[in-house]
Amino acid sequence: MKALSLLGSTGSIGTQTLDIAAQYPDQFRIVGLAAGRNVELLAQQVRQFQPLIVALSDADKLPELKAAIADLSPQPTLLAGQEGLIEVARCAEADVVVTGIVGCAGLLPTIAAIKAGKDIALANKETLIAGAPVVLPLVKQYSVKLLPADSEHSAIFQCLQGVPKSGLRRILLTASGGSFRDLPTEKLAQVTVADALKHPNWTMGRKITIDSATLMNKGLEVIEAHYLFGVDYDQIAIVIHPQSIIHSLIELEDTSVLAQLGWADMRLPLLYALSYPDRIATNWEPLDLVKIGSLTFREPDHEKYPCMQLAYAAGRAGGCMPAVLNAANEQAVALFLDEKIRFLDIPRLIEQTCDRYQSQNRSAPTLEDILAADDWARRDVLTASQPLIAATH
Ligand code: MG
Repeated sequence: MKALSLLGSTGSIGTQTLDIAAQYPDQFRIVGLAAGRNVELLAQQVRQFQPLIVALSDADKLPELKAAIADLSPQPTLLAGQEGLIEVARCAEADVVVTGIVGCAGLLPTIAAIKAGKDIALANKETLIAGAPVVLPLVKQYSVKLLPADSEHSAIFQCLQGVPKSGLRRILLTASGGSFRDLPTEKLAQVTVADALKHPNWTMGRKITIDSATLMNKGLEVIEAHYLFGVDYDQIAIVIHPQSIIHSLIELEDTSVLAQLGWADMRLPLLYALSYPDRIATNWEPLDLVKIGSLTFREPDHEKYPCMQLAYAAGRAGGCMPAVLNAANEQAVALFLDEKIRFLDIPRLIEQTCDRYQSQNRSAPTLEDILAADDWARRDVLTASQPLIAATH
């Protein structure tokens, strides 16, 4: 039986994790829940899973949550704001903390969880991309496990079981190609938020679905793979695989290639992160290769999707540059989702902000350096986007 604390319980990752916990009550117990502002769903989750501690980021809505669960006995500890999030992350009873919060907001709670000795089921890639120079040494220092819940990194992690470190030559990250993979490049200038949110294969949150449409998601995953598996950027390649059945592959030194396959269902990588190193028997639909019929692959189009190259460049620059790239992307995507800028403004704004960034502490940035870089990049994108916002309204 593993005790789980869940950050971002009302989001896509959070609700799927709770589906797993509900399905396997003899394997998993929920001890902590943290959500942003969806009081109604959080209250329902508290009733169903009876955690010990609950946090709501939006402190103004705490009375509403209190009222919604007033009849429960015993009452969980109720907290609000960033401090509440951190308390849920370091909950004494938790064995594993699932980080399902969107964006760099997951960084401080993840650090708190590591310092409290918790294993991390990493469903928030931004944490590692921005914070790796600080997070990775802490993972080592506190001897905790960083278990990837991202489908590609779970695939690589699964393939790597039993492979000696010297045996790995190359990582092949598969990409669905996102919402616009079959759209001609010249049509990208006119696409809307609604178009971009129609992902062909995966049901995910809004931010990551836009990242999939720009292929920044894949670029961020390249950086994530570099940090998780200690592989050079030259040894991480992207291949477009429209069916999303192969979730990624590894090539070994003898040219053998190993892949992990499954339906495009986030519950599988989540389950493995939670059950590692065990395998839990499920009644989920088994993969049917005959039904799928064919698996196809193509070269990624870097002209159409410049975000992949921006991510490789930021990853190679190292230091705070991945944090700058990530924050610029988060800000640009937020502006796009608010219909303030156009789709093609996203890569332009990110590139300009990365170009303007003056690296302070290249080799070994501190947490303060990273947070300052993150903050600077968000403000820089906001400033740079002003003329674009004026032009579209
Ligand atoms: Mg992924």
